[in-house]
Amino acid sequence: MGRQKNESPPALKSPLETNSQEKARAANLSSVAEGRLKLYNPQADNVRKFLDLLERKINRSLALSFVACVHCGLCAESCHYALARPDDPTMTPAYKADQIRRIFKRHKDWTGRIIPWWVQARYPRDDEGLNFLKNIVFGTCSACRRCTLNCPMGVDTAALVRYTRGLLTELGVVPEGIFNVNRDQWESGNQMAVTEKDYLETIAWARDELESETGIRGIEIPVDRTDCDFLYVINPREIKFDPRSLGDAARIFHCAGERWTLPKWGWDMTNFGLFSGDDRLGAYVAGNVYQAAARLRSRRIVISECGHGYRSTRWEGYNWAGRDQTVPTESVVITLIRYLRQGRIKVDPVKNPDPVTFHDSCNITRSGDLVEEPRWVLRRVCADFREMEPHGRENFCCTGGGGLLSTPEYRPLRLEAAKIKAKQLQATGAKLVCTMCHNCVDGLADVIKHYKLNLKVVQILELVSRALANGNVQS
Ligand code: SF4
Ligand code: SF4
Repeated sequence: MGRQKNESPPALKSPLETNSQEKARAANLSSVAEGRLKLYNPQADNVRKFLDLLERKINRSLALSFVACVHCGLCAESCHYALARPDDPTMTPAYKADQIRRIFKRHKDWTGRIIPWWVQARYPRDDEGLNFLKNIVFGTCSACRRCTLNCPMGVDTAALVRYTRGLLTELGVVPEGIFNVNRDQWESGNQMAVTEKDYLETIAWARDELESETGIRGIEIPVDRTDCDFLYVINPREIKFDPRSLGDAARIFHCAGERWTLPKWGWDMTNFGLFSGDDRLGAYVAGNVYQAAARLRSRRIVISECGHGYRSTRWEGYNWAGRDQTVPTESVVITLIRYLRQGRIKVDPVKNPDPVTFHDSCNITRSGDLVEEPRWVLRRVCADFREMEPHGRENFCCTGGGGLLSTPEYRPLRLEAAKIKAKQLQATGAKLVCTMCHNCVDGLADVIKHYKLNLKVVQILELVSRALANGNVQS
């Protein structure tokens, strides 16, 4: 029996209103009072507002993706959700895009205005119709862009998903976890609400740990130093959960004789504007980084290991913020390549003897164009590097992309879709899976735990730091 119109796929019944929004309203947060963070208002005509926003925010490339789909079905073979549930048509990229496409057709396209029944064009009836849309675009898509890459008509389903997320975010119709991270980034400037005190204390602790572990006297993790070769910006996870990652970077920079700094403000290069579709948030967070580089007169911005942070800060943020890229902005893997090419660090692959495979983060590889670069480094620091299949631009998402790690309500479906990733990982026979993304670290760890795989997740900085050979200048 087919599903009724506007009925969510069985796994997706997340409700419209959330406790966090009530609390944010009661606390009168500045981001709410100033209209930056939007709350759901059940009294408003939200469907009308949605249609107005749809009209205001459409652009030519989105319009192309709305009209170009010929429903050939090829994209189903690209999507891990559709591959994991081959008998469920609601998991195909085309179905997901059609849920917003039919509104566009009813509202903007002449076919939908004249013969709506023929082209299946229709408006959402009420706020529950918007909630249905929320559960589709946030709950059944990790915005990995694999379908986009493989569509013969050039339809960018992931862009339609982000666009729809952005419209819903403006109405406060968002999953609770996404709302919470948006709130924290608006309120504190970083997505984990790390205070300046905690930030500085953790850096001091990481420096002390590094000194006692390596025995390198005078090793530094500098903050707010001016006129450096580069400003290093990080993922808040490196402060809150994994300061070792920052320690590995500091050790490598020290061995390379680098003059670098972290900023006191504008250090979070992750950006939930990318996931929630809120370009204003995207501009604010990326703008903080660019301003920090200008304030400290840094000659370059180096982005630590984060997929969506890299895409946001290197590619999208300058457009969101309406700025030219006057300071070269690069991933830390490019910095590592420079060090190795210039002989500024020496490495010994024997120090990483276990078989290692590499997981391409969607936002670094498919959407960031770094494909060979991490492999170039891994082949020099690991004794046994092996590819997973498919890899590079065709790699499958870790399943935690698109903000999905912040949405526990969609986790069962996400982990079901993760069986594609689990099979890929298992087939490599590797003991370590390396990734250049803190988000992928958590996504992969979830997959490994759920499918009971005998694998450990590592990162490039960790492997390079471990491979540093005797003979590097260390003090
Ligand atoms: S999005 Fe592209 S691949 Fe998918 S059904 Fe439409 S035309 Fe075919
Ligand atoms: S962007 Fe990725 S998760 Fe989303 S529909 Fe396309 S292939 Fe599936």
